Amino acid sequence: MSLTDEFIAEIKAEFPSFRVVSKEGDGFSKLIDVALRVITLGGQSEYLTRYYTVIFHTLYVPGGWEATDDVERVITLRHERIHLRQVKRYTPAGMAVLYLVPFFPLGLAYGRARIEWEAYTETIRATAEMRGLDAARSPWLRKHIVEQFVSGAYGWMWPFRGQVNRWYDRALAQIEAEISGSGGGHSTMGGVTSTKKGDSR
Ligand SMILES: [Zn+2]
Repeated sequence: MSLTDEFIAEIKAEFPSFRVVSKEGDGFSKLIDVALRVITLGGQSEYLTRYYTVIFHTLYVPGGWEATDDVERVITLRHERIHLRQVKRYTPAGMAVLYLVPFFPLGLAYGRARIEWEAYTETIRATAEMRGLDAARSPWLRKHIVEQFVSGAYGWMWPFRGQVNRWYDRALAQIEAEISGSGGGHSTMGGVTSTKKGDSR
């Protein structure tokens, strides 16, 4: 059994209706893709090919999921599990308000930014736990995650690079403390969320 299958079983124990659906050939996903291209004026054009999306208890995955590295898939699933817990915490309607309404105006979507921040913190944590602290500290991972906030990928949700970098510093320090044994558990904050492929590297 792969680590991915084991982790999916763990998620299903917490969310029995959890399922993974490929975006390839999924009509609903194609509809969202068109809407996102229009809303972001083309800024988000990789929804079908590069993004993982949680809608209620379903995780929609881009093509190539089965062939993706086992550890990378688990790191992605850990990010997405945060979104499932957020849906539970805020209710689907609450999540939709927090996540989708602030698409307007583009560029200042604090609710979405905080929701994604919590999930990306888990991406950093999972990377540290599964690939080591050096991987979590890598400039590549930082750049990749910061770009998700300041670029058109999520509609320029929080275009303040300095602030996102400070969030990153804080999260990394906290995770380093957790891993060196001083930290306890972590808080978690589902609805509609997307995560770019390769987050976990
Ligand atoms: Zn996310």
